[in-house]
Amino acid sequence: MDLDSDTLRQIVREVITTRPDEIDCSQCFEQLDRFAETVLVGKSLAEAMPLVQDHLEHCEQCREEFEALLSTLRMLR
Ligand SMILES: [Zn+2]
Repeated sequence: MDLDSDTLRQIVREVITTRPDEIDCSQCFEQLDRFAETVLVGKSLAEAMPLVQDHLEHCEQCREEFEALLSTLRMLR
């Protein structure tokens, strides 16, 4: 191994700051329509899609996206 100390420090920082069970906005967005369907059929979100639920709780942008999607789906039914 000939990693220099800067590279090593960067790796350590990434390991510390990244939680492996977190999803990012694009992953959240990919699952958003399925998540909305789950809401509409009244399933438990914490059980069905905990990672999306977790992301929506922390990300205002995705939450707004989700609420818009949800109201659209409600209108269609
Ligand atoms: Zn997000």
